[in-house]
Amino acid sequence: MATTTTEATKTSPTNGEDKQSQNLRHQEVGHKSLLQSDDLYQYILETSVYPREPESMKELREVTAKHPWNIMTTSADEGQFLNMLIKLVNAKNTMEIGVYTGYSLLATALALPEDGKILAMDVNRENYELGLPIIEKAGVAHKIDFREGPALPVLDELVADEKNHGTYDFIFVDADKDNYINYHKRLIDLVKVGGVIGYDNTLWNGSVVAPPDAPMRKYVRYYRDFVIELNKALAADPRIEICMLPVGDGITICRRIN
Ligand code: SAM
Ligand code: CA
Repeated sequence: MATTTTEATKTSPTNGEDKQSQNLRHQEVGHKSLLQSDDLYQYILETSVYPREPESMKELREVTAKHPWNIMTTSADEGQFLNMLIKLVNAKNTMEIGVYTGYSLLATALALPEDGKILAMDVNRENYELGLPIIEKAGVAHKIDFREGPALPVLDELVADEKNHGTYDFIFVDADKDNYINYHKRLIDLVKVGGVIGYDNTLWNGSVVAPPDAPMRKYVRYYRDFVIELNKALAADPRIEICMLPVGDGITICRRIN
């Protein structure tokens, strides 16, 4: 391997690092991002996601697109990924924190067996009710136990009863980023060994690698440090194995190992 390339990997990036050496470092470690363009993302959607998207999810996506807070919704490719993951782990008892209009909730409900369950929590019922008629029409509403209100007290109640420990197969966390560490402290007891917790938005709009003085929307800046702290905490947690995927805004999959 060329000396210059090796040196580039040894040097931590600085403001003065030129583009060429950044590229070398990127390539040598084999991390070259696959998604080189928006067209490539569009290709994924059009080739493999939209043609297989259930009609109900398409309808919910279109209804959500008209809502003023539609930036919060789960993307169609991430919805497809969650649906596949839930089937791969044979999940039956699940939880979702952060429902909004229910796109990831519907992806989960469709993946579960007839007697599968989702404890779904959100402080806002109105948005959930926007998607509910579509979820009902899809014939999966009976799997959902929706609780309106902050998730943390519900988790505390669950943790207080030991019978709930180790009972969840799959948990998707997509709510207030400043509470993810608090959620993790509780969820680690509730998920079973071998079960999965997915923390969403762990690349937080790419801001996790932005210099502190970079221009950022106010909410991005506010939550950024919490996301960075969460990522460090998950990486250091010996109770889980992790895998951070650049799907959507980044999702960290955690598998409880003890
Ligand atoms: N998973 C959703 C989807 O697929 O469309 C998107 C969820 S959205 C990004 C975040 C949601 O978290 C919002 O609907 C918000 O009301 C909810 N939320 C914020 N703080 C919360 C809390 N403390 N407890 C429960 N839900 C909360
Ligand atoms: Ca999200």
